[in-house]
Amino acid sequence: MKGEREKAVCSILGVALILSLMCGVCAQASELPWMNDSIAKMEQSLVAKYGDGVRSDARRGMEQVAEFWRSEDGGAADFEAFVDQNFAGDAATHTAMFDRFEGILEKLSGHMNEIGLACRWQTDLDIGPILPVDEIFAGYEPSAHVLDDFFQDKIAFVVLLNFPLTTLEQRLTDGTQWSRRQWAEARLAQRFSKRIPAEVNLEVAKISSQADQYISTYNIWMHHLVDAKGNRLFPAKMRLLSHWNLRDELKADYADAKNGPAKQRMIQKVMERIITQTIPAAVVDNPGVDWNPYTNEVKPAAVKDADAEASLPKDLTNEREPDTRYAMLLGTYKAAKMVDPYSPTAPTLIARRFDEDREIPEARVHDMLVEIVSSPLAPKVAKLIEKRLGRGLEPFDIWYDGFRSKSAYSPEELDRIVSAKYPTPGAFEKDIPNTLTKLGFPADDAARIAQGIAVDPARGSGHAAGATMRGAKAHLRTRVGANGMDYKGFNIAVHELGHNVEQFLSLNDVDHTLLAGVPNTAFTEALAFVFQSNDLMLLGLEPKRDGKAEALKTLNDFWGVYEIAGVSLVDMAVWHWMYDHPEATPAELREAVITIAKDTWNKYYAPVFEKKDVMLLGVYSHMIDSYLYLPDYAIGHLIANQIEAQIRKAGTIGPEFERMAIYGSVAPDLWMNHATGSVVGTKAMLSAAENALSVIKAGGGK
Ligand SMILES: [Zn+2]
Repeated sequence: MKGEREKAVCSILGVALILSLMCGVCAQASELPWMNDSIAKMEQSLVAKYGDGVRSDARRGMEQVAEFWRSEDGGAADFEAFVDQNFAGDAATHTAMFDRFEGILEKLSGHMNEIGLACRWQTDLDIGPILPVDEIFAGYEPSAHVLDDFFQDKIAFVVLLNFPLTTLEQRLTDGTQWSRRQWAEARLAQRFSKRIPAEVNLEVAKISSQADQYISTYNIWMHHLVDAKGNRLFPAKMRLLSHWNLRDELKADYADAKNGPAKQRMIQKVMERIITQTIPAAVVDNPGVDWNPYTNEVKPAAVKDADAEASLPKDLTNEREPDTRYAMLLGTYKAAKMVDPYSPTAPTLIARRFDEDREIPEARVHDMLVEIVSSPLAPKVAKLIEKRLGRGLEPFDIWYDGFRSKSAYSPEELDRIVSAKYPTPGAFEKDIPNTLTKLGFPADDAARIAQGIAVDPARGSGHAAGATMRGAKAHLRTRVGANGMDYKGFNIAVHELGHNVEQFLSLNDVDHTLLAGVPNTAFTEALAFVFQSNDLMLLGLEPKRDGKAEALKTLNDFWGVYEIAGVSLVDMAVWHWMYDHPEATPAELREAVITIAKDTWNKYYAPVFEKKDVMLLGVYSHMIDSYLYLPDYAIGHLIANQIEAQIRKAGTIGPEFERMAIYGSVAPDLWMNHATGSVVGTKAMLSAAENALSVIKAGGGK
């Protein structure tokens, strides 16, 4: 879902991680000429005061401070006085200091998060027109100056003096032996491991907001798509946000025996026009124009289908969108570049994403993705899909959706059931305790968790905005039309609810708020998928799962991972390309993305689909505004599979979900080991898919 994308803002608060300030031990020596002497002098002084036992901690702390101390922070005497006053030389003082930071940072983060929500309220929620000033508010990041302030008044230096910075390698190896308090201390220090100027943070926030805005208004009015004969395949008022809603409509069209394939081909064509930017600029979010995506002909709309104001340019042409998509992507790259100089141990966004945010090395993620896309299971599953479809695969079948029992219900039927059940966001909110009870949460917990979640009407497709202090509410944003929630909206809302429940538990029930959350976004995705995969059960529709239904679900998961792993490889390659071509123009980037998408397809998918040069892997909107977020979905599916296997073993969702979520933000492999008994990997997914394939084959494959 689009919602869980993080804001590209550097913050010490742990609210926003994307260009995060997380750790790595700076190797840079201080350039201040007096520093070494002062450190040696103070080491003697602290040992004299507290005993020889503090020597190594004192030296490490002072060296950490020295890495960030600038001349404007003071001279030798200031440094020495600072160290003398703020070094916690005994255990009681150290604990008091730790408690102070944990308590205050929680409040600070929590209130800043509330301010941020308020500033984005009008642009995030579907509650009326957006004024120009609302967009300025949306770009405002209240915590942008906090890190600067904390370095200026030396609060950051107190942390660096007393708590150890750690490397990814240390966290991956030594971390298995750490206590919970040690983990919390490591997370505390990580928040102060970079010193990024506030003006850089603000600029990044502004650019990110522009990209968000571009993506969140990129709608296609489907009733205005016409074929060569002038037929309109899609119903009136259907307005689909690219790419999420387009892809989901394409999936839903498998249930339309008559027009399904024609609709799907047309959606594929629209996607290709978006990727190549040959889409006429006039048709984007405009119900005033009819468009034939095959010939690219545009005409004034021959039918009126919405109350929305249609804009009809005086001289209507099919002039293409001028590479805005790629200008936005380049903008995010340039924003990331601005942070690079202040992040010496992770000097690219790519390094920050993998070493710091995900805490799984890029090479290992790459290997996992390749294991999936080149799996010998893929052609076998493809054959099964062909058999079920009764035709050869087409490229859009990368989104084949027929392995789910869901396809037994027509989209109209599902929409009707959902809209009757949830006419308003409030109805969905009121039903949360009931929803959670159905998912196996104990009634007390279901009620307590529900109290912590507010449901708001979203402008976008869905979003889960977590709280960051205990007692504050998490917000579930969902798109509800005038006729009530539709099935697509419900499916997304259930996913977002999974995020919100995880957010609630991992904040309120974790032992240290410094460990609030999960190891990285892939984990919150995985837990959200656990909820989402039960959406039909929540509607009372899915028959009791038998072996075959489970097998179908597993094959559906496999096919989903197979698709998103390719999309992730494209996202990763595109970011490498941008770093290799810092002066690229939007047009050059467009060509590069097309080439990368086709190459990835040709290498891994063409042998399965028997068609070359398909560019669909480049359509994801996340690639444009979400800073290399996509691999989290692929890893998330793998993690989800491991977690689901565990939940199946336990025989219930609620209590297992709780046990996992409250473990907090430790290293991914450590978390997974606690949750399931093994580290993160593809094995669970691939062996489940292999089993599922044999179950289905034994049952005849229908
Ligand atoms: Zn999500």
